[in-house]
Amino acid sequence: MKTLFTNGEIWCTRGTYTDAVLVESGKVIAIGHDALQASNDEVIDLGGKFLAPGFIDAHAHPLFAGRESQGPNVNGLQSVSEIVAAVRAYIANNPSAAWVIGGAYEASVIAGGDFEATSLDEASRDIPIVLHAVDHHTVWLNSKALEIAGITKATVDPDGGTIARYSDGSPKGTLREPSAIDLVLSAAPKRTLSDDVAAIAWACQRYLESGVTSATDAWVEPGMPEAYIAADKSGALTIDTNLFFLAQPDTWRSYSKDFVSFRSEIEALPSTSHLSAKTIKFICDGALSAGTAALLEPYLDDPQSTGLLIWDEDELIDAMVHFDALGFQIHAHAIGDAAIRQALNAIEAVTRVNPRWDRRPVIAHAQLIHPDDLPRFATLSVIANIQPLWTYLDPMNAQLIEPRIGTKRNNQQYQLASLQRSGARIGYGSDWPVTSHVPLDALAVPTHRSAPGSTQAWSPQESVTLEDSLVHYTQDAAFSNFWNKGVIAVGADADFVLLDQNPLKVAPEKVNKIKVLQVYLGGVPWVNS
Ligand SMILES: [Zn+2]
Repeated sequence: MKTLFTNGEIWCTRGTYTDAVLVESGKVIAIGHDALQASNDEVIDLGGKFLAPGFIDAHAHPLFAGRESQGPNVNGLQSVSEIVAAVRAYIANNPSAAWVIGGAYEASVIAGGDFEATSLDEASRDIPIVLHAVDHHTVWLNSKALEIAGITKATVDPDGGTIARYSDGSPKGTLREPSAIDLVLSAAPKRTLSDDVAAIAWACQRYLESGVTSATDAWVEPGMPEAYIAADKSGALTIDTNLFFLAQPDTWRSYSKDFVSFRSEIEALPSTSHLSAKTIKFICDGALSAGTAALLEPYLDDPQSTGLLIWDEDELIDAMVHFDALGFQIHAHAIGDAAIRQALNAIEAVTRVNPRWDRRPVIAHAQLIHPDDLPRFATLSVIANIQPLWTYLDPMNAQLIEPRIGTKRNNQQYQLASLQRSGARIGYGSDWPVTSHVPLDALAVPTHRSAPGSTQAWSPQESVTLEDSLVHYTQDAAFSNFWNKGVIAVGADADFVLLDQNPLKVAPEKVNKIKVLQVYLGGVPWVNS
């Protein structure tokens, strides 16, 4: 079956358009004149619209997004009372819920971001409630959840995590970083496999509606590979997905053999499988909004603190060298300049110790890069994974981050143009459900460096072109996951998105109004069921 796509503006990759694409067995087999001359079985008339490679989300958490959709949704609410009301309404509609776990609240709603259990008690005093903040490094609990977790004045902060406290030491109701969050979530009932398969199916639908045809799960912990494998086998996983297994300081040695055996199991799935598992995720620090990103100079609001480095550098090097030798890609979360330096140092050590291979290491978020370290991305061939929707002065940057780190450092965030000029490769990811998974909301933000649909620029010298962003969301995102896609070229996967307008030809502030008309997976139109 040969399908010809024609009569559209067909963007292949940077600077390259064609007038026809021929697809067979999921792959592009000819473009342009060759495609028009060859025989075909079917013609898809693009009606003059804009066809591009499908968007690829190179850093996201679709399973967490799907899980969150199964609890109360508090995204975008602007006050504590609105959030509490939403949780109360959810409990009223789900009277049998033994636990309520949802998200994601905007931490900038409260100065300093410490939310109190007593306010969430107004939703329920009897049912434990846990809400994730949008940064996904922070949770807010009610008193019942604090009680079940056994968190009291006497509880010591776990390694790498913090419990927000009143001056007498008693817990406020806000926990930061995975080790602290585990105190409560380890007490919550285990989710079932079918809950998670349904969450994955839901996430794939949301992706396809918004033009995303491949994605990643950048935080895969025990229980999640099983869910993805089950979703793949049942057909619930409809888009290509690369899993990043989470390596943590206290567990990586014991989990290593599980990662290898899950990878083998995934590689043995039939050729119709959408799953791969090429990557190990390392979390080097927290988030600037929570004061947990690791900085070279102290936080202004807490001069004793430079944030949290999750790993001892030697341990990080040992872990990265170990997984790199097993043929896994390194994907390191690093936000503060100290964490970015540590991640670069560790990756540099890996390249010295292990034999050369096409390892494509990634540093995700890379928000505050020290000027001395910026050239090291290109030198070490480290891909900077950037969240395009974050590259403007949003309320979190203006109200939570700027008071903590000062104007100068705040404005040094997201040096996209400098990274590009240095020769570094940038891949885009949404970090969904931290922020929206919709590429067209985010695509123009690195160009106008302002809220979607507006024009007031933040540090405009770091602005990049719309076509740069389109490449980062397609070709570069594919490269960073070892996929032969993200371009329209002979031999590449025929995953496409059809848009009602060419984003390269409209004003940047209008890009978020562009509509997705259709996605094609392996050349076949996806039908929303
Ligand atoms: Zn993430």
